[in-house]
Amino acid sequence: MMITDTHTHLYSEAFDEDRNELIQSAIEQGIGRFFIPAIDSAYTDSMLQLERDFPDHVYLMMGLHPTHVKENYTEELAHVEAMLSKRKFCAVGEIGIDLYWDKTYFNEQRLAFKKQIALAKSMGLPIVIHCRESFEEIFEVLEEEKDESLFGIFHCFTGTYEQALKAIGYNMKLGIGGVVTFKNGKIDKFLDRIHLEHLVLETDAPYLAPAPYRGKRNVPSYLMEVLNKLSDIYQIPVEEVARITTENSKKVFGI
Ligand SMILES: [Zn+2]
Repeated sequence: MMITDTHTHLYSEAFDEDRNELIQSAIEQGIGRFFIPAIDSAYTDSMLQLERDFPDHVYLMMGLHPTHVKENYTEELAHVEAMLSKRKFCAVGEIGIDLYWDKTYFNEQRLAFKKQIALAKSMGLPIVIHCRESFEEIFEVLEEEKDESLFGIFHCFTGTYEQALKAIGYNMKLGIGGVVTFKNGKIDKFLDRIHLEHLVLETDAPYLAPAPYRGKRNVPSYLMEVLNKLSDIYQIPVEEVARITTENSKKVFGI
């Protein structure tokens, strides 16, 4: 069984004490592919180190996270662009709009999102979208940018059934993580109406740990909880969920 985590911040300081053990134990359970979203230039070195440590399991993205769009965002975007031209990355991410924490830089977030979509398209790469309290704003940008070169993942999808269909309509897979196991997570109520070919799995570790670990540090092996929940929802064996969602991740990332 090959299970794919399409979104995990394994380079985070939260794993400085036990990173290698956690990754090794996940690999032993069948979680063998980790896709690593960027945040900002401060983390680039640790991402590259992670890749050196697990070259057969780790695939890096490059991008500027919306909550890290600040006064210096043009410099940060220049870093993203320079890195993308220097070596291979599997996606531009995570990028998007976040209006939950702070709306001060909304305009800059929007500009950074559009600029990074343009970079992804020009390089034939998928985008990985971060959307928090911003469905309308994200969809507005996707409507402006949609064409055959726009594709990717709507990471940590938490929307409604209608928003799920809309995201799929823009060539996006839905990233399903811990939220699907939450009592009030809501997406578990309609997912069975969405074909499994549109879903990919993610932990978003160290954030958003699934039940029964909700509120704790999320670690790679907790992806099993998400896998089990989808197996329940779709009434198919976990092996089948793992196979199909790994196939979906291959279609997006080309790896
Ligand atoms: Zn993330």
